[in-house]
Amino acid sequence: MTLDALAFGAHADDVELSCGGTLIKLAGMGYKTGVVALTRGETGTRGSVEIRAREFAKAAEVMGLAVHKMLDIPDGQIEVTWENKLKIIAEIRAYKPRIVFAPHGIDRHPDHENASQLVRASAYLAGLKKVETVEEAFRPVKVVFCQSRFEFAPSFIVDITDAQPQKMNAIRAYASQFHRPDQPESTPASGETLIGRPEFLELIEARDRRYGAQIGVKYGEAFLVREALKVDDPVAFFGPEYLWTIP
Ligand SMILES: [Zn+2]
Repeated sequence: MTLDALAFGAHADDVELSCGGTLIKLAGMGYKTGVVALTRGETGTRGSVEIRAREFAKAAEVMGLAVHKMLDIPDGQIEVTWENKLKIIAEIRAYKPRIVFAPHGIDRHPDHENASQLVRASAYLAGLKKVETVEEAFRPVKVVFCQSRFEFAPSFIVDITDAQPQKMNAIRAYASQFHRPDQPESTPASGETLIGRPEFLELIEARDRRYGAQIGVKYGEAFLVREALKVDDPVAFFGPEYLWTIP
């Protein structure tokens, strides 16, 4: 099966948080989308590998993914190695996505930074015939970086207004990761996670709202590409909806 867009995350739930709304929107438009988590999340503070795999499958269903898959790179030890690149190259060649979504290269979690580097390098290497894997060479058109903890000046923002409630449902599928009223509240001192805090979901919503405001819609997700974007017709491109954007 070939995909139109394939999103890589270091861990299950990374993609939902950073570009879940966009994937839901794309699936709604008829595109075939997929998510590959590089690890099984075995070092996560909350949950277990089995629970996280179930939650990952549930979130995939909510997002309307055609493919969801976990690789076996050790959680917490994602290193930029040739072996790991070959694993990612194999996925890219198997699904032939036009667009690859990758984590942003600057992040608090070293797994996210290394995943970013691995995916960017692998998307290029996948196009080299002499890098041999089972599948033939294929190079995606673009690697698009998604926003996580650190902000960047976005290359573009996708209007996810209609998809945002569904994005929150996909995130809530990770019941073991997020706060529930019956659980003790997480604190930095207890070694618990930020995402386990009750206000975490509000934080995600606020971020989507903030990026939506920048393009004059309710909710948006921010993306970064390294290269300039081509615009054929600037008059048509800057339609009246841009009057609502924050200058
Ligand atoms: Zn992560």
